[in-house]
Amino acid sequence: MSDRLFQLLNDAQHRLDAGFSHLPPNPAPPLDEAASAILHQVADRLQDNYPYAHPLYAGQMLKPPHPIARAAYALAMSVNPNNHALDGGRASSSMEVEAVSALAKMFHLPQHLGHLSSGGTFANLEALWVAGQLTPGKAIAASDQAHYTHSRISSVLGLPFHAVPSDASGRMGLAALEHLLETSNIGTVVVTLGTTAIGSVDPLDQILLLQQRYNFRIHVDAAYGGYFTLAANLTPETRAAFDAIPHADSIVIDPHKHGLQPYGCGSILFRDPAVGRLYKHDSPYTYFSSKDLHLGEISLECSRAGASAVALWATQQLLPYVPGGAFAQGLESSHTAALELYRRLAQSNHFFTPSHPPQLDIVFWAAKAPTPEASSALAQAIFDEAATRDLHLALAKLSTRFFPHDTWKDLSRSNQETTVTCLRSVLMKPEHLLWLDQLWQRLQAAAEKVTVNTPLEPT
Ligand SMILES: *Cc1c(COP(=O)(O)O)cnc(C)c1O
Repeated sequence: MSDRLFQLLNDAQHRLDAGFSHLPPNPAPPLDEAASAILHQVADRLQDNYPYAHPLYAGQMLKPPHPIARAAYALAMSVNPNNHALDGGRASSSMEVEAVSALAKMFHLPQHLGHLSSGGTFANLEALWVAGQLTPGKAIAASDQAHYTHSRISSVLGLPFHAVPSDASGRMGLAALEHLLETSNIGTVVVTLGTTAIGSVDPLDQILLLQQRYNFRIHVDAAYGGYFTLAANLTPETRAAFDAIPHADSIVIDPHKHGLQPYGCGSILFRDPAVGRLYKHDSPYTYFSSKDLHLGEISLECSRAGASAVALWATQQLLPYVPGGAFAQGLESSHTAALELYRRLAQSNHFFTPSHPPQLDIVFWAAKAPTPEASSALAQAIFDEAATRDLHLALAKLSTRFFPHDTWKDLSRSNQETTVTCLRSVLMKPEHLLWLDQLWQRLQAAAEKVTVNTPLEPT
């Protein structure tokens, strides 16, 4: 944290403390030499991490929280509010209501019921829990590229689950979905806008057309990709999917993924506020301090970090969710970086690129070798070699069907599908675009080094 930020935080802390200054003093236990030594130990231990905040970390979906989110979270820590009930945090509860409304407004929902959660997993659990109650005895369907949490949640909830095959671009296959709707008792279709592995965007607009013929609920899992609705540079197909969001029954978005928040910040939005009745419960000791809505009355989780709401609210004041604004431009920059990396990869003679360019900001590619097994081994070697050059990528085992038919000769002859370990990069930081040359030089150098060490058999 910069010195300036500590200074701002210190000023704000004094201002917050002033509100309680009429109370008799009750100082916190002092931090002495022992505390200093422990903190140094903590600092040393924490060095055992990838440098997540640096643009040369371009691996998994990890994005540093905005400094204002860190400061607001730290400020809230002196109160440590609990947004379960108004007794635990009046201010942070109303900030949560406002922050969730900003999310609903970003998606153009005419009305909503929603709240923050510890993350996307729990938010999706609530969506499918509500779906299961409204469509009793019916199954959940999600694409084979959907987050694995959906099959696990379905099993927790005792709901049957069906995977829908995705197409060559990783989007839910419409013909496959229609076949499933004809042959199975599907109550809810989970539509993923931004899959976790490759950032593919299911065709929500087309799935809505199927909904008119086969009656089912639609849950949109936009935990990763939801904020891209603000980006002006998506393809028309991707845009059409995001524009259809107001017609979904429920939406999950994770502010701790693309929303510049510390972990512990997911959210669930329902289009019909009447689903609140499903949460109805009584607590003999909680909801006395106010007749107003306590967030715990519409949430399955009980204690929740009020600080998460405070941090999100503060970030939204600085970077409002408006098309063309600084926050939207950051997402556009990530998408542009992904397209540019894809373009360079496609021209390189070290790599194979998938048939479809990235829909959002996640790029994957294979190392050029005669068989998927050899490509996989080479990808692992390039991954390791890149890390020695401070470039941190990710690996992902993906279907060969995402690559052009003739990418691996033997495979195309036998017409079979298998998996290949690919290199993968999530370019979620707005700065990634500026750093692309640096990333590219290191990737090329790593690929050259590894290819020299493992000469390929001529094919
Ligand atoms: C990350 C993610 C989840 C799980 O959310 P957590 O916040 O990790 O619990 C679910 N669905 C999608 C599409 C995701 O990207």
